[in-house]
Amino acid sequence: MNIIYKPKGKAREYSSLALNIYSGCDHGCKYCYVPEILHKTREQFRQVNERKNLLRQIELDAEALSFDPEQVLLCFTGDPYCKFNDEKKLTREVLTILLKYRIPVSILTKGGNRCLQDLDLFTQFDGNIKVGATLTILNTEKSKEIEPNAAFPKERIEALKKLHENNIKTWVSIEPVIYPEQSLKLIELSLPYVDQYKIGKLNHFKNYEKSIDWHKFLKSAIKILRNTDKPFYIKEDLAKFKEDICLSEDETNMDNLNIIYK
Ligand code: SF4
Repeated sequence: MNIIYKPKGKAREYSSLALNIYSGCDHGCKYCYVPEILHKTREQFRQVNERKNLLRQIELDAEALSFDPEQVLLCFTGDPYCKFNDEKKLTREVLTILLKYRIPVSILTKGGNRCLQDLDLFTQFDGNIKVGATLTILNTEKSKEIEPNAAFPKERIEALKKLHENNIKTWVSIEPVIYPEQSLKLIELSLPYVDQYKIGKLNHFKNYEKSIDWHKFLKSAIKILRNTDKPFYIKEDLAKFKEDICLSEDETNMDNLNIIYK
């Protein structure tokens, strides 16, 4: 494999395979640590570019993986529905290739309704795709300040609703958690339209992190989710704060929520 790769470390908790369509991301999230990983300045990372020979490379990798039951995440170091995609529409071309080779797909985006431009393709996957949103901040003003070019939280939930109404499997990543009360509220608001959740915490902001009662947040999130039939995964960094809470094998199995080709 070349462009489809096996994520390592904390990234592995998102998916066993991943594919980054663009180089860079124009959402401009203040907490984004990808520029650091890629040794770029924030300004350089905000300039989105096409990757060289992307479609040809994906075709080769996808052919090698065809009928492989492991899901491919779009994307880890960027957003498949960033603004740049409105112009280039490469995500649509990538999905067309993955569909051709019957590769299960997991999408994660903060682009809100933008993903609906590919709804017709999602339905062709016949259940072998799940589409997710990162839900971070409920307050619109704060969202604009911290994730300046991403869709507002309300729009992200609206997109999940539309996907759900069209029988597309949906999921939510609750990470980073900056304001625990807002994250809990976002879980509650999205519940009617979401099939599964991955819950994390905040990393990379050591002093601020220390001010949050992670045990309390974990306990509250679990209480909400266990009262429903929604499967969820608690990320390792948050699970460290479980203390007296008993987490089941499923709740701590990072592959439990993967889309397996049917
Ligand atoms: S959407 Fe993800 S990759 Fe893009 S800026 Fe935000 S955190 Fe970074």
